[in-house]
Amino acid sequence: MDTAIRLTKLSMENAFAVLNEVNKLNAAGKDIISFAIGEPDFDTPDNIKQAGILAIEQNKTHYGPSAGILPLRETVADYIGRTRKIAVNPNEVVITPGGKPVIYYSLHALINPGDEVLYPNPGFPIYESVIRFLDGIPVPMPLLEERNFSLDTEHLKELITPRTKLIILNSPQNPTGGMLSAHDLAAIAELAVEHNLWVLSDEIYSRMVYDGEFNSISSLPGMKERTIILDGFSKTYAMTGWRLGYGVMPEKLAELVARLITNCESCTNTFIQYAGIEALTGSQDSVSNMVAEFRQRCDLIAAGLNSIPGFSCKQPAGAFYAFPNVTEACRQHGFTDSKELQQYLLHNAGVAVLPRTAFGTKNIGEDNEYLRFSYATSPDNILAGLQRIKAALAAR
Ligand code: PLP
Repeated sequence: MDTAIRLTKLSMENAFAVLNEVNKLNAAGKDIISFAIGEPDFDTPDNIKQAGILAIEQNKTHYGPSAGILPLRETVADYIGRTRKIAVNPNEVVITPGGKPVIYYSLHALINPGDEVLYPNPGFPIYESVIRFLDGIPVPMPLLEERNFSLDTEHLKELITPRTKLIILNSPQNPTGGMLSAHDLAAIAELAVEHNLWVLSDEIYSRMVYDGEFNSISSLPGMKERTIILDGFSKTYAMTGWRLGYGVMPEKLAELVARLITNCESCTNTFIQYAGIEALTGSQDSVSNMVAEFRQRCDLIAAGLNSIPGFSCKQPAGAFYAFPNVTEACRQHGFTDSKELQQYLLHNAGVAVLPRTAFGTKNIGEDNEYLRFSYATSPDNILAGLQRIKAALAAR
């Protein structure tokens, strides 16, 4: 088929490939415990579902503005203003189908060929994929286990060149569960102001914090005007399949992102946006309950992983991922890398996890191996899955 060359630069998200593999194994009658999926195992809270149903019944089923309906943009402006302690105008809010399009659209609006973009590695693979798609130059910022998966801000200074245009941050982080400290954010903000850089701050896990406090770089002096905040409903309100998220950014940029939306999906689904208003303004008990449950599972999985010979796991600070170092287990059992271990666990333990390389190629000098476990699954599954891993490794 004679297809466009540019598509060869766009990557697939490895998590979806593993999910396909798990589905196939399930269909063949295999019993797989999955730690591979990055979504809450909770249902969308009832008040939000009812708001969506009501909006359909009230025929909120027509096209809306590309940037999103005003009442939701006002609600988001108020929510982000309160939680990040900044003044946000509804014209600085763009509603999108999920948080992910904010990455695609804001990078399209900002990046020219040859522009360098710093991004966290290991990190959400879509960042690097979209940078490459735009002929930007992806520059990985290593996240370091010895710094609880924060970055070395001194090293970051060395990565900045006259061609650097934007820094992508993600805290709490996928896949490590790490968080950037207020101290590190202040150092990054100082560099961004000094070098006149944009920051895309992916804050999709901002409500899932177990240790310390969430901080947004947008709250720091001189940052709001150069920051795009990505947040949304998928994780916080267990709404992954609804597809609802948003970006908060300077108005001029918001207009460009809305123009891209006009050319692509016209607007985000109208009645779902009404459910979003209920999510942000209704009772937050479901969020507190879910986060309390994740906190317990976080302790359970970290302790369980640390009890597996050859695994060592830092206590995750947020999101719902644990990222154990499995270098020693690979060495002891003769796996060349985390991908081989991941395949062994899938086919011999019936446990699905993701390898380090699903989150970017290893950094220069990085010689450790890691796996990502999503603990958005029941405590029984966590205990059973870890037991299976122990047994399968012991049997090898
Ligand atoms: N950003 C990060 C770091 C994520 O892990 C995800 C989803 O896994 C997203 C963005 C996308 O979220 P959404 O499903 O709202 O598009």
